[in-house]
Amino acid sequence: MNTIVCLGGGYGNMRFIQRILPKLPSGYTITLVDKNPFHGMKTEYYALAAGTKSEKNVRVDFPDDDRVNIVFDTVSEIDIDRNRVILENQTLDYDMLVIGLGCEDKYHGVPGAEEHTYSIQSLRESRATYESIGDLKPGSTVGIVGAGLSGIEVASELREAREDLHIKLFDRGDRILPMYPARLSAYVKRWFDDNDVEVIPNSNIVKVEADKVYNNNESHDLDLAIWTAGVQPVEVVRNLPVEFGPGGRVVLNQYHQVPGHENVYVVGDSAALKHAPSAQVAEGQAEQIAEVIEDILKGKALPEEMSDIKMQGILGSLGSKEGFAYLKERTVTGRIARMLKSGVLWMYKLGNN
Ligand SMILES: Cc1cc2nc3c(=O)[nH]c(=O)nc-3n(C[C@H](O)[C@H](O)[C@H](O)COP(=O)(O)OP(=O)(O)OC[C@H]3O[C@@H](n4cnc5c(N)ncnc54)[C@H](O)[C@@H]3O)c2cc1C
Repeated sequence: MNTIVCLGGGYGNMRFIQRILPKLPSGYTITLVDKNPFHGMKTEYYALAAGTKSEKNVRVDFPDDDRVNIVFDTVSEIDIDRNRVILENQTLDYDMLVIGLGCEDKYHGVPGAEEHTYSIQSLRESRATYESIGDLKPGSTVGIVGAGLSGIEVASELREAREDLHIKLFDRGDRILPMYPARLSAYVKRWFDDNDVEVIPNSNIVKVEADKVYNNNESHDLDLAIWTAGVQPVEVVRNLPVEFGPGGRVVLNQYHQVPGHENVYVVGDSAALKHAPSAQVAEGQAEQIAEVIEDILKGKALPEEMSDIKMQGILGSLGSKEGFAYLKERTVTGRIARMLKSGVLWMYKLGNN
């Protein structure tokens, strides 16, 4: 058992590798496979799409360590019965596997949504979104479907990037971020009102065409639509012969292993966990996976019960100057929240370089 293959160099596997490396017994190696030549900081893709950050600002190098072999390739299939991963250009055998391939958009069967909306779920898609936004004529209308954290951040960043655009944010709820205190929702809504972003509550997009979305019974003319209304594990993971839980995520045992294939772990957005998927959860889970694998490699018994993954809260930006946070059950808004977010980002880059 001496080859650990990590699929996807996202938040989950970056943290896993960082934590396991100091504990890795000699003779063990890690192979990290990603279709990008660097770790893309997905939490910042909204700024890439809006054009307020360049791609260089949202990249982090993969670990530079003799025990880590980086493979720049795309995963086509995972054969968990044969302990083998099929990439576009080669096949890899593994002793242990950590799948951290993230997620992609889920369109909930809405006709035209996949064909006619832009995405911010991958680097390539965010680049395409950025280019098309750049081509929009002055005064064009952009619709953002979904007012979760990513929809809010795209809408506000776009407002700062292009003052001339009409921006419509289609929100499914009757208030923005209904799971957080009303004060936080009211603050975000006020920012949108003050900055001329139209928030449309109780939205239900039922159809998308090249130049229109249909919201309940009303149609809205749009020059460009961005989809931020749901995610699901990537197709390679959806094709695994395993049990799937809510949101199509892989059901795991308490050690984050695939039941019946205990040498296979799933980290991050593809894993069915108690918490909604986020970079924060992916990192917390990755730390636990590193602890479990360390125990296994050292021949130690696994703990009877794993502790809960600790959540810190949320941090969101409203352009470059304002933001909001819900941390330890406290709401923070304004410039301080924005500075906190920038600080977390800075620390993240520092910790990974
Ligand atoms: C705009 C936006 C804002 C967000 N803001 C926050 C936030 O503030 N806080 C927070 O906690 N979370 C936030 N999230 C969510 C967060 O980004 C994800 O939950 C997190 O990235 C999941 O980490 P992961 O390791 O599962 O996957 P990812 O970080 O998505 O990494 C997956 C990796 O797999 C690679 N990959 C995928 N398919 C293949 C393939 N077939 N072959 C090879 N490589 C492949 C990708 O290139 C990527 O490197 C945000 C998301 C978005 C879109």
